[in-house]
Amino acid sequence: MRSVTTVIIGAGHAGLAMSRCLTERAIDHVVLERGAVANSWRTERWDSLRLLTPNWLSRLPGYSYEGDDPDGYRTMPEVVAFIDRYADMISAPVETGTRVTRVIRDGDGYLVVTDRGEWRCRSVVLATGACNLPNVPKLADAVPAGIASLSPMNYRNPDQLAEDGVMVIGASATGVQLAEEIHRSGRPVTLVVSEHVRAPRTYRGKDIQWWMDRAGVLDERYDEVDDIVRARKVPSIQLIGTPERATLDLNGLRQIGVELRGGVAAVRDGRVLFSGSLRNQCALADLKMNRLLDTIDEWAHESALDGEVEPPHRFQPTEVDEKPPLELDLIGGGIKTILWATGYRPDYSWLNLPVLDRKGQIVHDGGIIANAHGAYVIGLQFLRRRKSALIDGAGPDASDLADHLTGLLAGHSKPAVN
Ligand SMILES: Cc1cc2nc3c(=O)[nH]c(=O)nc-3n(C[C@H](O)[C@H](O)[C@H](O)COP(=O)(O)OP(=O)(O)OC[C@H]3O[C@@H](n4cnc5c(N)ncnc54)[C@H](O)[C@@H]3O)c2cc1C
Repeated sequence: MRSVTTVIIGAGHAGLAMSRCLTERAIDHVVLERGAVANSWRTERWDSLRLLTPNWLSRLPGYSYEGDDPDGYRTMPEVVAFIDRYADMISAPVETGTRVTRVIRDGDGYLVVTDRGEWRCRSVVLATGACNLPNVPKLADAVPAGIASLSPMNYRNPDQLAEDGVMVIGASATGVQLAEEIHRSGRPVTLVVSEHVRAPRTYRGKDIQWWMDRAGVLDERYDEVDDIVRARKVPSIQLIGTPERATLDLNGLRQIGVELRGGVAAVRDGRVLFSGSLRNQCALADLKMNRLLDTIDEWAHESALDGEVEPPHRFQPTEVDEKPPLELDLIGGGIKTILWATGYRPDYSWLNLPVLDRKGQIVHDGGIIANAHGAYVIGLQFLRRRKSALIDGAGPDASDLADHLTGLLAGHSKPAVN
C-alpha cells in the first residue's frame, strides 16, 4: 500500500487544476485516472461537438489560451490537446489506467482502493465529473421494442441512426445541437421541450459569454444566490459553438422544420403523451433571457460601454404552434430513434462514505463534504460559483478548496475559506 497526503480522483481539467493548486501549496498528492487524461472528452462526446464557451474562457491556474483565435470554439481533439498540455505543463502526478473502486474511512484519513493497488491518504478530492451517466427518466422503460433509445453519451453522428424519424427529448444545449444536426441529415426530428434557458450567441456585437463574464454573472457565488438548490438544477444554456458564431434557438429549429412538442408526461401503449406546457415554457425562457439582457445593459451603461458596443435590442419571442399535438403514436408516426438529451448525473457507485443524500447527490458546502473530514468535491454545477462546472470555474474553486485543505492539515479545526 502506498501513502500520500491527498488523493485526487479524476484527471479532467478539474482534477488537474486541483493538482496545480496543491503543488503550489507543497501538498504531496497523486491524481488517479481510470482512462487517459481528459478521458471524458476523448470517449463520451459526439463527433461534431465544439465547446460552447469561447477559447479565451477556458482559463486554468497558470494556463490560458494563447492562439490566434480567442473568440473561436474548440473541437473535441482541441479540448483534449489543451488539457493534455496542461497536465504536462504542471507536471501533474497522474496515474492513468487506474480505476478507483472503493473509498472508505480509515482512521483519521481514507483508504482508496483501485484496480492497481491501494492508497492511504489524509484527504481525498473527488474530481470525477458531474456527467458520468445519462440521466434518463424512468418512463423510458415504456418505449416499445423496435425503437432505439440513445443518450448523448453513445450518440456519435447521424450515420448511426435509422433513416427515419427521431425524437430528441430535452432542449438544453445538447438537445438543440443534436436536433439540428440530425434534422440536417435528412431525418425528420420532433424536439420535446420542457424547461430551458434561451440566450443569443452574440449580443451588442459581443459573445454572450463575454458579457456574462465581464458583468460578473459567471462569478456569482453559491452563498449569495437566493436558492442554491434550484440554481444547481438550472439546465445548460441553449448555445452552440460554430465558426459562424450562429445562434441556435427554437425559432431557428422550427424554421428548418423541426417539430416542437411540450415535455413528456407519459409513454403508454406505444404513444407519447406531451404536457400542454410548451407555450408557457417558451414564454418563461424568453422572459429570463430578457432579464439577463437587462442585467447586461445595466452593467454596460454603468461601465460607460454604451458608446463602444452596439445599441441594446431584443429578440423575436419564441414562436410555437397555436395547438401543438398532445400525443404521438411512435410506430405510426415513423419514430425509429429516441435520443434522451435529458441531462447527466455523476456516478458514485464506488464511494463508500455516508455523504450522499436520498437522491444520490453529495452533501457539501461549496465543495467541502459534510460528514467526511478532509474530503472535497470539485467540478459540480454551481459548486462555489455559477461557472463551477465550466472549465473556467475550476481554477478559483480549486484554489479555495486547496486553501481550506491547507488549514485543515495545519490543524485548524475550522479552516477559513473565502
Ligand atoms: C456535452 C458537454 C459539453 C460541455 N461543454 C462545455 C463547454 O463548452 N465549456 C465548458 O467550459 N464546459 C463544458 N462542459 C462542462 C465540463 O467542462 C465538462 O463536464 C468537464 O468534462 C468536467 O470536467 P471535470 O474535470 O469536472 O470532469 P471530467 O472531465 O468528466 O473528468 C473526470 C475524470 O474522472 C475520471 N473518473 C471517473 N470515475 C473514476 C474512477 N472511479 N476512478 C478513476 N477515475 C475516474 C474520468 O475518467 C474523467 O477523466 C460540457 C460538458 C458536457 C457533458
